[in-house]
Amino acid sequence: MDALPEFALVRATTLEEMIGVRARHPDSRLLGGGTDLVVNIRRGILAPPVLIDVNDVAELRAIRADARSLEIGAAVKLAEVAAHEEVMRHYPVVAQAAGFIAGPTHRNMGTVGGNLCLDTRCLFYNQSEWWRAANHHCLKTTGEVCHVAPKSRGVCFATFSGDLAPALLTLNAEVDLAGPAGKRTIALENLYIGYARQDRPITESDGDGKYYLSLRPGEFVTAVRAGNTAGLRSAYDKVRIRRSIEYPVTGVAVALRRQGDVLADLRVAFTGTNPRPVLLKGTAELCGGPLEGRVFDGLDALVRDQIMSMKTTFTPGHYRRRVAGVLARRLVARLFAG
Ligand SMILES: Cc1cc2nc3c(=O)[nH]c(=O)nc-3n(C[C@H](O)[C@H](O)[C@H](O)COP(=O)(O)OP(=O)(O)OC[C@H]3O[C@@H](n4cnc5c(N)ncnc54)[C@H](O)[C@@H]3O)c2cc1C
Ligand code: SF4
Repeated sequence: MDALPEFALVRATTLEEMIGVRARHPDSRLLGGGTDLVVNIRRGILAPPVLIDVNDVAELRAIRADARSLEIGAAVKLAEVAAHEEVMRHYPVVAQAAGFIAGPTHRNMGTVGGNLCLDTRCLFYNQSEWWRAANHHCLKTTGEVCHVAPKSRGVCFATFSGDLAPALLTLNAEVDLAGPAGKRTIALENLYIGYARQDRPITESDGDGKYYLSLRPGEFVTAVRAGNTAGLRSAYDKVRIRRSIEYPVTGVAVALRRQGDVLADLRVAFTGTNPRPVLLKGTAELCGGPLEGRVFDGLDALVRDQIMSMKTTFTPGHYRRRVAGVLARRLVARLFAG
């Protein structure tokens, strides 16, 4: 690890102050727990001149959960989410995902905003400066090729690995954003633009492993919100190399409703596979009947179509895709059985 470069630390206490600092310092970065950002700074990946600490901003520290809705401020700590009784009761998928992140110390430091905006990861990127320099860097920083897919035509496949996003995607969550141009709310799904398509140019709404968030200049997340659905059962599961303190090989969130013997609603989302968290499209067509082979075969086909794991981690892409399918099948069966 290299020494940290010089930077100024602003301890903001209000949202307006944060917006002002962001406007005055376009190269600033928000600092939640710093459990990802500071590692990247130390590795020479980033050198923001100004860090804006979000932890003293009261507006971002609230967490409200009941049987009707969930709202979590961006500066809420992961440990608080994991241990919040109403979140555990009404939104178990969210509490479980938070509880699976990294280790206890990271969860005491790490914030919801930092987890939702987590940088994408890759074997060739999460390395020291000298290691990356020895390998001529890559597209995600200053290099000219992607070492994972040298014929990628300018596209980076670095993988999104945050655990909270898939959990919240199964609840059709929205995120509140603020920045110098004002405030807005978007579907959480639209925050993530890492499609990594080689046949389309990178645009504001269609990015890759390098341009993976749709945040506008100076914009940041202030809160995430979701409504509840009566009778929804949900859970999160994840496979990782070590059983603690480890990013997901693959993480899967499932939310479903059972009416009698009928699968009435099914939502499945993944992390650790693509440059974005993936909410599977097409699961509604698998509903309306009993939980039988047709549903599992259909789920497998959707995973094959939409989960695009590349060799960005120590585990091969095809293995991560298979794990994703197996985890999803198991979780669907477990939740349906009740
Ligand atoms: C050993 C180890 C294991 C880990 N395992 C996991 C894991 O299993 N699962 C997992 O999900 N993560 C894991 N992490 C990553 C990290 O600890 C968590 O994702 C954590 O939630 C990040 O939150 P933070 O507040 O510390 O983010 P920070 O490091 O403070 O910020 C991360 C990024 O988000 C930006 N940011 C912060 N807040 C906001 C905001 N409100 N709006 C917009 N941008 C914002 C920052 O500028 C930065 O770019 C691991 C990290 C380590 C070191
Ligand atoms: S996927 Fe390619 S461009 Fe992206 S970080 Fe990895 S090696 Fe670099």
